[in-house]
Amino acid sequence: MADIVISEPMDLAAMESLTGDFDVLYDPELVNKHDVLPAAVASARALIVRNQTQVRATLLDAAPDLVVVGRLGVGLDNIDMDACAARGIQVFPATGANTISVAELVMGALFVLFRNAYLASDQVLDGSWPRLSLNGREIQGQTLGLIGFGAISKAVAVRAAAMGMKLRGYDPNVADDDPAWNELAVAPMTFDDVLSTSDAISLHVPLVESTRNLVNADALAKMKTGAVLLNTSRGGIVDELALAEALTSGKLSGTFLDVFETEPVPAGSHLSGVPNLIVSPHIGALTAEADARVGQLTAANVRRVLEQG
Ligand code: NAD
Repeated sequence: MADIVISEPMDLAAMESLTGDFDVLYDPELVNKHDVLPAAVASARALIVRNQTQVRATLLDAAPDLVVVGRLGVGLDNIDMDACAARGIQVFPATGANTISVAELVMGALFVLFRNAYLASDQVLDGSWPRLSLNGREIQGQTLGLIGFGAISKAVAVRAAAMGMKLRGYDPNVADDDPAWNELAVAPMTFDDVLSTSDAISLHVPLVESTRNLVNADALAKMKTGAVLLNTSRGGIVDELALAEALTSGKLSGTFLDVFETEPVPAGSHLSGVPNLIVSPHIGALTAEADARVGQLTAANVRRVLEQG
């Protein structure tokens, strides 16, 4: 029986760094094998997951020997932290390891949204040649509002500043006199002021009670007409029905979503056919470089706990 169970895809070199010293069960599809997963963790001391495996009472009850959970990423909403704490199970997110990948995805989306680039490939190829409707905006000189001023937000700030964007941000947990605001040339403001003065809003907050539906109809109404919105943080932070309305009415000129209220997005969802909406299937952290960093960090975290215990 395995000592370490890895139920979702992990960088192979990082996974193999554990197999010499531990009995490892690596099955990147295990998360979807609901009949097999509980038995697989029966003797596991470590469980390594991405964001799909639900580490909650049912799974924890099936894993009486569990002492550590390694999270191949940073969001912890698929892990019942209280239940883990009650059992003394240590949980290690791979903090910082995928920050650059998400920040680069945001930058790419900013360029596309302001430029309307690549949004009419079908029309170009069917002979319509829609040059005038694709007249865009440079990102230099646009104002970017960052909601949340943590690791990813700061990495976006560095890159956006290099492109000549003007920066402002809101984070109730970062004091206005925190030197990071100054160092990154981001002006701290209230949530409403960031909304009402930004040409682009990018969300970089965890999904917690205070952020659920943070960007609702009310918040969207406060945004500048023609602004763009980017959410690479978590589904449930943007009210998707209100967003669909804001894009359809032209209040927002574009939106990029990497995360959704329901993942996978159901066929025929309320977002289908909404204009100027670009979506991707929660790929913010999916790069070769992030995979390697996240895997190495998680393997090291799990190894440390198992070798101590
Ligand atoms: P972080 O913990 O470094 O930063 C989050 C920031 O949000 C913190 O500074 C916190 O103070 C702030 N915050 C908390 N509540 C807030 C509120 N109500 N209003 C404004 N700010 C608030 O996290 P991070 O590494 O920057 O990650 C940010 C988000 O990106 C997380 O939700 C994470 O799950 C998500 N993420 C997504 C992907 C992806 O694949 N799309 C990959 C990595 C991370």
